[in-house]
Amino acid sequence: MKLLEGKTAIITGASRGIGTGIAQVFAKEGANVAFTYSSSEAPALALEKELTALGIKAKAYKSNAASFEDSEKLVAQVLEDFGGTIDILINNAGITKDNLLMRMGEDDFDSVIEINLKSVFNMTKAVQRTMLKQRKGSIVNMSSVVGVKGNAGQANYAASKAGMIGFTKSIALELGSRNIRCNAIAPGFIETEMTDKLDEKVVQGWRDGIPLKRGGRPEDVANACLFLASDLSGYITGQVLNVDGGMLT
Ligand code: NAP
Repeated sequence: MKLLEGKTAIITGASRGIGTGIAQVFAKEGANVAFTYSSSEAPALALEKELTALGIKAKAYKSNAASFEDSEKLVAQVLEDFGGTIDILINNAGITKDNLLMRMGEDDFDSVIEINLKSVFNMTKAVQRTMLKQRKGSIVNMSSVVGVKGNAGQANYAASKAGMIGFTKSIALELGSRNIRCNAIAPGFIETEMTDKLDEKVVQGWRDGIPLKRGGRPEDVANACLFLASDLSGYITGQVLNVDGGMLT
């Protein structure tokens, strides 16, 4: 029996990087996968095709996670397309707009908070009624080690990721009695397009400083997500799981 057989999952921001990794692992474990993207239509449609070939139902949706209205519409459409249930929500969509506070514009602060943090509110609100009716659900929020520890040059991003942790713990307390679990993952340095923008020397320095001596792969995060989404973690809620090769140890 596959770990997510027959479950329906929504994953935000799965057209690349960690989100794609999660969608692939979930589909292999039998989940039906609804996923979103912001602008990368071609990779999203290619992923939809790849996942469908595994024998599950998969569909890509263009939806701005920062928009409350888009999130409501998305969930209504997924319920219609996937037979009325949503078992898993992975709030993965995120961006960075790094700068020292001295140079950080108001727009850079607002857009990072809206896409990374408000999106989690939008999507959790949108699935809440369905999960309450089902009396089950697992929500996983993609935070970051930077949200746990802070990082110079990423005040906006760190604030958004720390905010996700407070939100996660609050929802775990609010919805636990209805068998809805909410956990966060704090990835360390995972090598994706988001990190391709960084200077190679800086990146090598980070790899050297990690106890496991390598950057993480999207599958490393996806496997942690699989655990938290599946019934294997049925007695775990309100937690932050660091997936960081020992970085914060
Ligand atoms: P990525 O490669 O840049 O991919 C980001 C994904 O989010 C893309 O699918 C993108 O869609 C989507 N997205 C961006 N803005 C969106 C919006 N407004 N609405 C819906 N989707 C949107 O990033 P990643 O490295 O895989 O990171 C995924 C998550 O993990 C993020 O939340 C990130 O903060 C977190 N994280 C990453 C690392 C790391 O080292 N990579 C470490 C810690 C935490 P388009 O392709 O259409 O733009």
